[in-house]
Amino acid sequence: MSQRIWVLGAGQLGAMLKHAGMPLALDVLPVDINEGTAPALAADDLVTAEREQWPETEVTRALAQHPRFINRNVFGRLADRKTQKELIDELGIATAPWRNVGQDTTAEELRKQLGGRVLLKRRMGGYDGRGQYWLGAEENTIPTEFQDASIAEQAIDIGEEVSLVGVRNPQGECVFYPLTLNLHLDGILYASAAPFERLKFLQAQAEDMLGKILNALDYVGVMAMETFRVGDRLLINELAPRVHNSGHWTQAGASISQFEYHLRAIAGMPTPAPQILGQSAMINLIGVDYDSAWRHLPCARTYWYGKEVFPGRKVGHINIVSDRVSDIRDTLTALDKLLPGHRYREAIDWTLNKLAG
Ligand code: ADP
Ligand code: MG
Repeated sequence: MSQRIWVLGAGQLGAMLKHAGMPLALDVLPVDINEGTAPALAADDLVTAEREQWPETEVTRALAQHPRFINRNVFGRLADRKTQKELIDELGIATAPWRNVGQDTTAEELRKQLGGRVLLKRRMGGYDGRGQYWLGAEENTIPTEFQDASIAEQAIDIGEEVSLVGVRNPQGECVFYPLTLNLHLDGILYASAAPFERLKFLQAQAEDMLGKILNALDYVGVMAMETFRVGDRLLINELAPRVHNSGHWTQAGASISQFEYHLRAIAGMPTPAPQILGQSAMINLIGVDYDSAWRHLPCARTYWYGKEVFPGRKVGHINIVSDRVSDIRDTLTALDKLLPGHRYREAIDWTLNKLAG
């Protein structure tokens, strides 16, 4: 019988892990955390997660208590922005300057310590820019929901947002993809692109940062590191102990995708370095209905998550890959007419711009 791997969570990341498991002869089984009853786990099954945080339910208890739940002790530590920042500080790795927001912390003292513009981020549960609040320059009270429940960060004058996705296997060997450039609008990832010749000089710096974290945590599987490039320096924005949206381009743009690496690592399979299959761009589908016209684009592969469409909700993505940048430009130009709203104009222009160097 093939190895079974249960996934805590049944969103798109779980679905894409399942998809990636098939050619590896792995039986990947995402579990909806709100299911009424826990599945029957066997002793030699493996358990992983597609999310870093979860409520206590019958299902999550059963999965998280399984003796072969990989990286069990990492999730809590990274899911809380405060303990995540503490870990990064302990390892002496550069990150956006921050302070804990306690019950008695004042807005004035945060501005004094961090500079005029301060971003409050709730410690738990934020995603796609949710749970964040820019403190006004004259604002004297910290909103109640942030008191004793958030960290405050200095506003970074971001040159570019750059992420690194890497994998560590049980032997402690790490493999990394080339750095990825990311465009966030309103806190949501709209577009990614990789690789870039001009980012190569930052690759060793980034690998050293994430490598230290993976080793310190004795982590097995894929982790993503979001950074801000400020000049020649990278500052960590945040870490995600899982496959990550900024690594979705690897499904079409690399010989081994991030989903496959994660499964290979946790199942103890080889993790050879990936071949990069040309230039990649990824466009997220956010709050848009499925459009069968996307199927006409030759270099574009659409991944549809089958979720109900709401404004601002990630419902799919399109990977565009070719060894000719002109093919990617043509595909983006064609997509420009197929995706509604000014945010997509901005995302496609950004991508075309980045590809132009
Ligand atoms: P999420 O968990 O929602 O992805 P992030 O901490 O990554 O939260 O923040 C979302 C986005 O907000 C980032 O990708 C970046 O564009 C912006 N942002 C976050 N922190 C800062 C900061 N300290 N200074 C400037 N912009 C920031
Ligand atoms: Mg983020």
